[in-house]
Parts: sequence; structure tokens; C-alpha cells
Amino acid sequence: MSGNQTRLKAIEQIVNRAPKSVNTPEPLSKIWATDVFNLQKMEEALSKNAFKAIKKTVQTGEPLSAATADIVAAAMKDWALSKGVKFYSHVFYPMTNITAEKHDGFIITNSDGGAITEFTGSLLIKGEPDGSSFPNGSLRMTNAARGYTAWDPTSPAYIMHTPNGATLMIPSVFMSWTGEALDKKIPLLRANSAMNSAAQKVLTLMGETEIATLNSSCGAEQEYFLVDEHFANARPDLLLAGRTLFGAPAAKGQQFDDHYFGAIPERVQVFMQDFEDQLYRLGIPAKTHHNEVAPGQFEIAPYYEAANVAADHQQLMMTVMKSTAKKHGFLCLLHEKPFAGINGSGKHVNWSVGNSTQGNLLDPGKTPHDNLNFLLFCGAVIRGVHKFGPLLRAVIASASNDHRLGANEAPPAILSVYLGDQLEGLFNDIKEGKLLNTAEGGLMDLGLSQILHFERDPGDRNRTSPFAFTGNRFEFRAVGSSQSVSGPLVAMNTMLADSLNWIAEKLEAALGQSEDKAVAAISVLKELMEQHGNVVFGGDGYSEEWHKMAVEERGLKNLPTTADALPALREQYVIDLFKNTKVLSPVELESRYEVYAEQYILSLEVEAKLVVDLATTRIYPAATSYLSELGLTSSSIANLGIQLDNSVAAAIAAETNAMMAAVAKLNEALATHDFADTEAHMRFCADVIRGLMDQVRQHADALEGLVADELWPLPKYQEMLFIK
Ligand code: ADP
Ligand code: MG
Repeated sequence: MSGNQTRLKAIEQIVNRAPKSVNTPEPLSKIWATDVFNLQKMEEALSKNAFKAIKKTVQTGEPLSAATADIVAAAMKDWALSKGVKFYSHVFYPMTNITAEKHDGFIITNSDGGAITEFTGSLLIKGEPDGSSFPNGSLRMTNAARGYTAWDPTSPAYIMHTPNGATLMIPSVFMSWTGEALDKKIPLLRANSAMNSAAQKVLTLMGETEIATLNSSCGAEQEYFLVDEHFANARPDLLLAGRTLFGAPAAKGQQFDDHYFGAIPERVQVFMQDFEDQLYRLGIPAKTHHNEVAPGQFEIAPYYEAANVAADHQQLMMTVMKSTAKKHGFLCLLHEKPFAGINGSGKHVNWSVGNSTQGNLLDPGKTPHDNLNFLLFCGAVIRGVHKFGPLLRAVIASASNDHRLGANEAPPAILSVYLGDQLEGLFNDIKEGKLLNTAEGGLMDLGLSQILHFERDPGDRNRTSPFAFTGNRFEFRAVGSSQSVSGPLVAMNTMLADSLNWIAEKLEAALGQSEDKAVAAISVLKELMEQHGNVVFGGDGYSEEWHKMAVEERGLKNLPTTADALPALREQYVIDLFKNTKVLSPVELESRYEVYAEQYILSLEVEAKLVVDLATTRIYPAATSYLSELGLTSSSIANLGIQLDNSVAAAIAAETNAMMAAVAKLNEALATHDFADTEAHMRFCADVIRGLMDQVRQHADALEGLVADELWPLPKYQEMLFIK
């Protein structure tokens, strides 16, 4: 079937299809976490002592004895078998944004030829996938490809159902045989622990006596697009690159703002209900869903959880989302910019830190004493974003997110902090010394009452800021929709650990000078704000003035592409940050740079090859067929003695030639291989390949507006976005 027939047939099929029916939803209480081996189920299945031990591990990260692991493994197996499970799998999170798994049977055979099920503590604790094909940034040579997965008891095991049966999934870490982290989970666990140690120091200095283990929390809002599978199947770019590499804007885009929070189309509602039903069974607290700004775009936000669990749940959610969409005849696009000219997708990472004794330390609270802890932790974030802005930019860098950042619909590629008017005013007063009465060495009355009466201001929002305080948490808004949230959480927790360590040191010295904790805290914050206050910005982050001011006056970095951003991972102060906090060794960090750079290069090369292919094999034939048709029409009309205006034909010829000239240049660029190093290769992709792809597209999109609709080979924007 030729391309245009596929397209026309797709439209016919979609227009005539009915929503897939799903079972009537069961009450939440009946399905909640039924497929999860959580603490509640462990309590039912384990002896009192074993349960106490595992609960402590889950809640504080304390190691588990081999004997208890054996007991838990046996109970986990029995529970899984009772639910019809025959296989188990350690699930792990390699340095790419994917989830990986290796399935093993519970079965072992005995000498009589019989078979029994077995699952011991050591099998639960350790798996050994052949890790050679996972990117490792030269951490392991392939001849030493052994990698280990190890059970992470702090993230609950669960059952995944597929048409072929059910598998027990065990969240795990993934490391090399020499113990280096090959995944995204180990650094997150380490970063949480570094943050906890540093926070303990600060809170102790502030006079807290009982301080429970601190953990970070994450609630991620996920944006996504749904496209009908018939259209997707006719668009190799959507299937292989996750975005449209061609496509002229539809006459109607999002300018009417009629999609945002609008009525959800019936087919999509049915999908969402099915999807959320599965999330509930998996113990994922899906809370809100709504239409997003762009047509065909939606959002889902689960309730926040401990960062490590939230990160695993986020990965699982993306997997379930894609498979459920498929079941309902959609392709779910998690790409940051599937369609040019309309809003892309992000993943807002809401983040806070706290524990059971002090509560959420990013909540200003109601008493001045809570306020001081809050101000110190909030100050620590400000310092972190200022000092490590380029790192925060690097951990959200990808070929796909580059399309979105700084495109005036998503946060700019410059990292700044939004605090809201009241809090910004307070921190400015601290910076200017307005709160400290230096003559008497105390706090001014005005200052004290300002802190006392500070209240969180949740209504205040700034959509243009990449890093915004939202009442009791920070929201990292520049994270990409297809990304794992682990990298950003690692960066945030580690920079916070660094800042809290700095604060602890300064606070200790200040407390030597003044008995008054408030005075000491404010004086440390004054110094912090003098050094780092430049990163606080409450204005329009999209504006040109800010781009100029941020770089020229405030010394902030604008890093528009991944090629600009990733080298931050090789800067000495970033290497030191991870080394000092023991989150990543220099070798582990370098391997991440290599892997992410490689992924950037690969994704651009795949896209570029697709551009060459689609332009040559689909668009060029459509344009030339139409041109030849026009030629025939024109000469047969000339037989009647009428001369047809040939400006359309001339324009098609010009655009076609220009497109193929750009294709030739792109092909030539793709053949370049002699790069001094990875950074040079990334630069070439950013500076040369991307530009040439845009050139091809520009001419191809012009042709879309010239060639007869019935000949056009690719589903058009208006069809993919508006046909429901
Ligand atoms: P909005 O769109 O207004 O930002 P949503 O309700 O869509 O708000 O999403 C907010 C996200 O922030 C949810 O996942 C929510 O659970 C999470 N969240 C709320 N409080 C905290 C907190 N203290 N720490 C981390 N995440 C939080
Ligand atoms: Mg939000």
C-alpha cells in the first residue's frame, strides 16, 4: 500500500472506531495494592521478629540479616505462587532511561526428575544478569561483563500481569563485579543518605535532640500525548524517534486554549480509567489527571512518596502507560516535543525533605523555631541551585528535552530559583542585613516578627521558572517527560547535602560567637545570600531581558543544548561534589558523562538518518509525482488553448530541489567520523546535524502546503491532533 493510501485508510478506520470497553471499575479499597508485597502483607505473612526487622530496613535503610532475608523470600514466594506467579525478575534501572528485567523461574528439578519451586534469601538478594549490553561508559570491559543485581528492600516487590502470565518483580540495584554503580538507583540511595547526614548536623546545631532519619520525597507530574495507532503506524518518525520529524502546523493549534482542562474525549477517558485501575493494583497513588495545553496532550500526577519508591513507581507508570495505551489503540508519546509549534511535555518533579520528628523541612510551619529550620533548608536549596546550576542543567539534558527548554513554553535553559514575593522579600532583607541588629548583636523586632508571621503562599505560581518554591516543596519544572526522575533527584539531594554541610560548618562557628540560635542562623543565611542570592528571580523567565541579565549581570549560565550542558559533569567542582558526598566516585561520574553523551549522539544520528530516508523515499516521490501530474494537466489544458499559471509547479520544483540539496549535505555530514573526542562529536551534532535536519524539514513542510492532499504520504498534524 502506498504511503498516501495508508494515511487515508487510517483516517477511515479511526473515524469509525468505538472506544474499547473496560470492566466496571471496582472500588479502590478492593483493588488498592493487591499486586504489591508491601508491609501490610509482610505483617500478615511473617513472624513478629522478622516483620520488625524488615520494617526497620524499609523505614531507615538498615541492613537486613541473611536469616531474615530467607524468611522474607519464602513468604514472598508463597504470596506470589498463591497469585499464580511462576517467574520472578530483578528489575533494575540502567543508566539509560529504561527499566530492565531478567526473568527466572521459581522452578528447580530434583534427581528423580520431579520439579519443585524454590526461592531462597540468596536468590532474592542477588541476581546475575549478563550486563554486557547495557551502556556502562567503559566501567566494564565486555570481557568482564558481569553485573549483579541486588534486592532493594526499601522498594516493594510487585506482580506484573501480561497475557502470558504473571511475574514477581523485585526492585533492585545494578552494579559491576567491582562494586561500581551501573544504575540510577544506587546513586539515589547514596544521595539520600548524604543529605540525611548533613541535615542531621544542621538540626543538631539548631538544638533538635530527637532527629529521625531524613528522606527526600518526590511527586512527579507526567505529561504525555496520545496518537491513534493507525496514524502512528503510518509515521516511521513517531515509531522510531518518538516525534514528528516533518509536519506543517495545523491551521488550528492550541491558540484557542480550548484543550487545557477541557472535557476529556471518551476514548481517552476509557484509557485513563483502565490505566489508573492498574496503577492502583500496583500501589501507585494516581491522584489527578486532566487535559494539558496542547491538543492530544494529557497529564497524570500520583501522590508524592519517598523519592526512591517514587522513582521506581515513575518508571513502572511509564511502562504501564505505554502498554495500556497500546491496548486502547493509541501510541503513548513521552517525548518532550512530539509536534513542532505546539507545547511539549515535561515532568515536574516536586521535591521536599523531611522525617517523622521534624516533619517537612521545606514547610515554613507556624512557629518561629520551625521557620528557622525552614529558612536554613530553603537557603541550602538556593545555594545549591546557584552553585550547581550547570549540574542541574546537565541531569535534564537530552536530545529531546533540548527542543523544549528555552522554547518559550517551558522553563529556560538557565537555572534560577523562584521563591514567591513574600519569601523573596524575606531573603532579600536577610541579605541586606535588615534583620540583624549589629549594634546589639540581636535580631531586629521587625525581623523577628517577619519570620514569625511568615506563611506559605501556595497560590503564588510562576510558570516560567525552572525551579520554583510552591508552598511546602520545590518544583523542578525543567525535567523532561521521558526521563527517569532519579538523575534530577540525585542532583538535588546531593547539592542539598553539600549546602547543608556548608551551613553546618558556618553555623558552628557562628554559634561560638552568639548563643542565640536565631541570630546565628540569620547571620549564616546573610552570608549565603550575599554569595548566592543572584540565582533568585521572580520575573518572566521567558523574556529576552532575563536571558541577557541572567548571563551578563548575574553570571548565570545559559546552556541551550546537551552539548553545552553535559561537560558540566567533568568540571572539577562537580567531581568534588560527588566524591566528597560519596554519591559517585570520579570513575562512576565519568561513565555517566560517556553514556549520556553517547545517547545524545545516537538519538540525533537516528533522527538524521530517518530524515534522509523519509525525505528521499516518501516526500520526494510525492512531490515529483504531483509535479508530473501537473505537467500532464497543464499540457492537456494547453491543447485547449488555455495557459495554466505554473507558479505552484515552479514552487514545488524549487522546494524539492532545495530539500534534496539539504538531504545531500546531511548525508555527507552523517559520514563524518573523525572526532577528537566525545565532546567534539556532540558539538558537531548540535551545531551541524541539527541545523541540516531543520533545513530539510523546512522545505518538506513547505511542500506539504503545495502538494495535493490526496498524494501526501504522512498523516498531517491536523489529523493526528484533532481526529478523536
Ligand atoms: P500542580 O499542578 O498545581 O503543581 P499537582 O497536584 O498536579 O499540582 O501536583 C503536585 C504534585 O506535588 C503531586 O504529585 C503532589 O503529591 C506533590 N506534592 C505535594 N506536596 C509535596 C511535598 N511536600 N513533597 C513532594 N511532593 C509533594
Ligand atoms: Mg506542578
